[in-house]
Amino acid sequence: MTFELAERVQTVPPSGIRRFFEIAEERDDVISLGVGEPDFSTPWTARDAAIASLEQGKTSYTANRGKRELREAIADYAADRFALGYGPAEEIIVTAGASEAVDLAFRAFVDPGDTVAIAQPSYISYEPGVIFAGGEPLAVPTREEDEFRLTVDALETAGAADAEMLVLCYPNNPTGAIMREEDLEPIAEFAREHDLIVLSDEIYAELTYEGEHTSIATLPGMRERTIVFNGFSKAHAMTGLRLGYALGPADAIGAMNKIHQYTMLSAPTTAQYAALKALDSCDDEVREMIDQYDRRRRFVLSRFREIGMNVFEAKGAFYCFPEVPEGFTAEEFAEDVLREQGVAVVPGDVFGAGGDGHLRVSYATGLPELREAMNRIEAFVDEHA
Ligand code: PMP
Repeated sequence: MTFELAERVQTVPPSGIRRFFEIAEERDDVISLGVGEPDFSTPWTARDAAIASLEQGKTSYTANRGKRELREAIADYAADRFALGYGPAEEIIVTAGASEAVDLAFRAFVDPGDTVAIAQPSYISYEPGVIFAGGEPLAVPTREEDEFRLTVDALETAGAADAEMLVLCYPNNPTGAIMREEDLEPIAEFAREHDLIVLSDEIYAELTYEGEHTSIATLPGMRERTIVFNGFSKAHAMTGLRLGYALGPADAIGAMNKIHQYTMLSAPTTAQYAALKALDSCDDEVREMIDQYDRRRRFVLSRFREIGMNVFEAKGAFYCFPEVPEGFTAEEFAEDVLREQGVAVVPGDVFGAGGDGHLRVSYATGLPELREAMNRIEAFVDEHA
């Protein structure tokens, strides 16, 4: 007997990067600049809090929306860092990673056939998430000329005025682009004018290297139509602990919680203890990691320029997005540089419209490895381009 797969599952193609893992396995000296997670471990103070909670036997479910104390800490953090005012009782939900929160939002707000506009290139989970929820993704390509910022022009050209929802991710995975307040204002106006719900994935907000991160939810008339996502995976180096959260108006978060309480019950308890401590007393460790990412960012950007590859000034997250030299597609470059030099990067096409001809290069890797990887990329370019 074979399982009859649901159509929405069949529709989603397998991830485009699997093939690269197979090639990588053929060599034992591969340096991976392909991953989207910190090379740092979770700060010890947060780990100790998790260990202590286990020793004390704190291993039960928490409230569906997460421990009240943690929601209070998140409310304070969001207010202090990003001027986001949300109440711990009804406007915050703690989830198993930002991933769960994004999925809950799609399932809570997308009706069959609804169009969800997605600014691209973007994190690879949004399109499948929309399809699993029965919606129809609409790609809105951004351009290198605009430093991969979303523009109203791009929204209009793609037909996003007729969409029900808009997904934004700034600082952006995979480009490293950020949107300043003045870039967000016209997008907010478009969302208000066309009555769009905005899902704003701000998981890289802390990793903003120039200026301060601005959330679109802080612009006039946006709070009531925006859900903000954040979590502990990136700035707090807690990917494996699986903890994130969403901020939004009470009725919207309530709808997300309705799904969450039946499908997840509550986010991982041990991770909630770690997160509480992470917000309370890991500022110095977080600052140090951000400084290191920034040093690596400047190093990688300057090396690409020395090598002669065009690369725009990534200002957030831990990725840069160089253009491949003429004569290559992104896929060819990524495949050949992996086979010949043992450096793994991800072709930009994987991240949707506007990503072709580019590579996502993660600098969530130590400087010594980055130095070696950039030397190898240089040798590859010298030989072929
Ligand atoms: N959003 C973006 C933009 C990401 O890059 C990632 C992780 N790569 C996630 C969400 C998922 O985060 P989490 O570990 O909190 O589920």
